[in-house]
Amino acid sequence: MNAEIIAVGTELLMGETQDTNTSWIGQRLPEFGLEPEYASIVGDNLTRLTETLDRAWRRSDVVIVMGGLGPTLDDLTRDAIAKMLGEPLTTDPELKDWLEENFARRNVRPMPRQNLRQAGIIPSAVAIRNAMGTAPSWWIDRDGKLLLTLPGPPRELSNMWTTEIAPRLKERLPGKKVMSRTFKTIGLSEAAVDEMARGVYDIPGMDFGVYAKPDGIYLRAIAKADTEAEALNTLLRAETMTRDALGAYIWGTDEEYPPERAGELLLRRGYTLAVMESCTGGMVGAALTETPGSSAYFLGGAITYSGAMKAQAGVPEETLREHGAVSEEAARAMAEAARRTFGADCGVSVTGVAGPGDQDGVKAGTVFIGVATPETAGVSRHEFPSRRPLVRNRAVTAALLQLIQALQERAP
Ligand code: AMP
Ligand code: MG
Repeated sequence: MNAEIIAVGTELLMGETQDTNTSWIGQRLPEFGLEPEYASIVGDNLTRLTETLDRAWRRSDVVIVMGGLGPTLDDLTRDAIAKMLGEPLTTDPELKDWLEENFARRNVRPMPRQNLRQAGIIPSAVAIRNAMGTAPSWWIDRDGKLLLTLPGPPRELSNMWTTEIAPRLKERLPGKKVMSRTFKTIGLSEAAVDEMARGVYDIPGMDFGVYAKPDGIYLRAIAKADTEAEALNTLLRAETMTRDALGAYIWGTDEEYPPERAGELLLRRGYTLAVMESCTGGMVGAALTETPGSSAYFLGGAITYSGAMKAQAGVPEETLREHGAVSEEAARAMAEAARRTFGADCGVSVTGVAGPGDQDGVKAGTVFIGVATPETAGVSRHEFPSRRPLVRNRAVTAALLQLIQALQERAP
């Protein structure tokens, strides 16, 4: 079945708000056997919105409309759907009560009249209440097709999708059950992943995709079958074969992200960690502490931006003098100093030139990352293309992946 996504809002067209909802939803459709074929952005205009909806409804099996469900007069998604389907828009008394209670709970009495618009309904729509806001979703099942609305604010949209829409879609959509798993690798090129995983591609009932992301090359395995059990079986078989083929290059799966995985490995080994950061200015520490419970392994660190601070934190002055602050030797010494000075089992260091200009003969984008554990000590050199914020972000990800790799090398 094909699916189509429509994002509604003039602010999206004008670039004031970035349309993150389309990619969030697009990512989640294949697991329902839905193939996203079109995505459009349309402004808050009744004629153009109705036109866009009409075209989508004619050519797609499932249409997902996001935004334009607020209480103000420029929120026209409800009006446009009613017009497109030729159904009358009336006030749903139950929705009205629910909205009024919603406002009463927040001590807003009486409810602003404008909000009554959000209690609007058409005969073929079932309203699904929004646990995080006042815009209900509509579930329209008509003529063998589905038309769904989702609230615009990303937090509300993702909650509505996960708790209400996804379970209903699972029930409603016939045919193949689809399950997927993403394997995240590090240290391999796209071509290498493709070549090493080739044997896995032959499993019947499976689709594979290889693509590059900032935290490595991903291999996505999608299993399709008539029943969920069968799909799961196929997927598990693919997982075994993928792990055999790519082994230690896999650092995580699905929603796992580097700070979380690094923390998990540190915990499992019973190691503590300290960092010494120059060009990332504390961003590695910030990333590590995004994970709840990180105090169990992350001790802290130092932002040693100047040479004097690096020396004070325990980096030998002659190393800095002889090789420069942005060098393999400096990165190695910083990682070691992080362990020694702060009494940690592991140390991570980042030193580089974030740009835009070159510095002391070192090209902008050059970053050295050091990782020292009780068993290993290593430095990697990177040349990140592009702008300063990106260089710093890439350096953080690279540092975490290098730590993960060092900790994975000798499995416990
Ligand atoms: P609306 O339902 O149109 O009133 O949207 C409410 C808010 O949700 C907007 O002001 C945006 O901040 C946000 N929003 C709407 N659509 C999107 C989208 N496609 N991507 C990200 N944020 C959005
Ligand atoms: Mg809007």
